[in-house]
Amino acid sequence: MEKKYYVIGNWKMNPGNLNEAKSTAKTLQRITPNSKYVETVICPPSVFLYTLQKEIKGKTKYGHQGIHYEAKGAFTTKISASMAASAGAKFGIIGHSEERREGVTDEMVSGSLKNCLKEGMTPVLCVGENERDQNGFYFNIIRQQIETALSNIPKTRYTDIIIAYEPVWAIGKDAKRPASANEFLEIKIYIQKVITDLSNRKTADEVSIIYGGSADDTNILPFLEAGAMGFLPGRASLEPEVFSKMVLEVIDFAKNEGSK
Ligand code: PEP
Repeated sequence: MEKKYYVIGNWKMNPGNLNEAKSTAKTLQRITPNSKYVETVICPPSVFLYTLQKEIKGKTKYGHQGIHYEAKGAFTTKISASMAASAGAKFGIIGHSEERREGVTDEMVSGSLKNCLKEGMTPVLCVGENERDQNGFYFNIIRQQIETALSNIPKTRYTDIIIAYEPVWAIGKDAKRPASANEFLEIKIYIQKVITDLSNRKTADEVSIIYGGSADDTNILPFLEAGAMGFLPGRASLEPEVFSKMVLEVIDFAKNEGSK
């Protein structure tokens, strides 16, 4: 079976109101190209999710930003996996650095991942180091994030998980600099090694590893050439024209790959 590519938009805490969210989603659903090679997803703020998936339908699916590590209970402000799934989410962004920054630990990420799978959503597990040190300690961080996240997951489910490599230093408008495709490739190979150590080479090859960190329509080709199976854009996903150009580029690349 051919592997799919993914373009998964993380809207974060944007846009500012439901009308704007509807209008952005409408344009995005209308102009984003559709192809058997690429799955497109947008993850709006949870208060908009149910309305958007009900009213603004199209080939682009909806996902949820963040899934709580407990199934239910006294967790004011939090959203459980079953809530997200029942509101129409097919994907769940888990362990994003902006959540980790607010105290989400690898152990919590592990619980969220398990709940997300249990409710039938595809988890998008975000991993990435805050900075690159000279001694390569950042490899240990990636290993620790993946090993703990997968610690309660049956090996047979690993291939149902998308892993997004998101170097924190390359994310957002204050990013130090964009990551290079070589830096992505280095970590992709390392993630595959970690998964091979936990399971086997075949499984590692089958897990989709995507890239996030200031990805847009101008810079994704080298990442595709380095083996990225897609992208997790933040800012670019709020601009339907940019998002759709990214998708088009991924489709073209996937078609060429398919015809090789
Ligand atoms: C992100 O936060 O996941 C992200 C990649 O954001 P941006 O594309 O805006 O850098």
